[in-house]
Amino acid sequence: MKKKVLLTRKLHDFALMDLKKYYDIEIHQGKIPMPKKTLLKKIRNKDGLICFPYDNIDKDVLSAAKKLKTISTYSVGYDHIDVKYAKKQGISIGYTPEVLTDATADLTFALILDLLRRVTEGDKTIRRGRWTQIYGAYDYVGTDISGKILGILGFGRIGAAVAKRAKAFGMNIIYHNRHTLSKNTEKSLGVKYVTFDQLFKKSDIVSIHVPYTKETHELVNMKLFKKMKKTSFIINTARGKIIKENDLIYALKKKIIAGAALDVFRNEPIGLNNPLTKMQNVVLSPHIGSSTAETRKKMAEITVINLKLGMIGKTPLYSVNS
Ligand code: NAP
Repeated sequence: MKKKVLLTRKLHDFALMDLKKYYDIEIHQGKIPMPKKTLLKKIRNKDGLICFPYDNIDKDVLSAAKKLKTISTYSVGYDHIDVKYAKKQGISIGYTPEVLTDATADLTFALILDLLRRVTEGDKTIRRGRWTQIYGAYDYVGTDISGKILGILGFGRIGAAVAKRAKAFGMNIIYHNRHTLSKNTEKSLGVKYVTFDQLFKKSDIVSIHVPYTKETHELVNMKLFKKMKKTSFIINTARGKIIKENDLIYALKKKIIAGAALDVFRNEPIGLNNPLTKMQNVVLSPHIGSSTAETRKKMAEITVINLKLGMIGKTPLYSVNS
């Protein structure tokens, strides 16, 4: 008898065809994310799970999953999985780093350019038939990118890829991690380590690339916004809960900082009741960091490889908890 695998959402057809050869697969078709009650019921008899960042794979789910051997998440972030508890239960976890680094760095840079040059805002102006009002010399000015200080919080795979792009745009780059890079690496990349506080004080643009953990929960809050330049911008393509969203909304309203571009939010998806959707100095995208056809295909390939390895008790190709 084939082993059973649950997918909380459909993957690419090529991936599903491959999975069907080896496993009895069940794909959740309804509302996304899968309601917890349904997840608890469906996971009970499954040997493998393919999930997405919006699925909350907590202790309850893992406890209900009596037969589960492996989880393969279609993401590099794994903050939605109780990794510690999974390890205790002997469940391996695979994820998809590296292949989505460039796509996410590109989206980060698209947001920086959009926010500072007010592209989306201009698009809205044209569509409302208001172009005629912005012809004056002082009207509709943006901000230069070249020569500005970009502060990268979390200089890992994506942070480093953003730095590479920023170099080409003539920016000066500072970064903060818990561990510093070697002096040689800093020199060859043209980046400088600063303390956490200095990153926020000195930067014209802060771009967030740390994972979401207990340590980074609402790490970016009013205390920091008050330290930032009034002309500065914040970009978040990491995870929504790293920023205290209400503080950000207040800081934007009161012009404590100049603007924000966000791909991730405290509670996703956000609707029109979120004040961010009404703000002129904000650019929003619907969590599309890795969303290119090429990258998504590679992520699906790795998700399947990770699952297959985990199902036979081997370490996934990219393993979170081996
Ligand atoms: P990564 O290579 O692991 O980089 C994370 C960096 O953050 C590391 O350099 C780490 O360095 C630093 N860091 C971790 N905790 C920190 C802390 N408390 N304070 C300061 N620095 C800290 O991860 P990545 O592949 O670049 O991905 C980063 C995140 O992007 C993912 O976790 C995911 O949530 C998000 N992401 C979002 C999308 C999207 O669609 N928007 C797509 C892909 C990824 P130290 O260990 O030295 O601190």
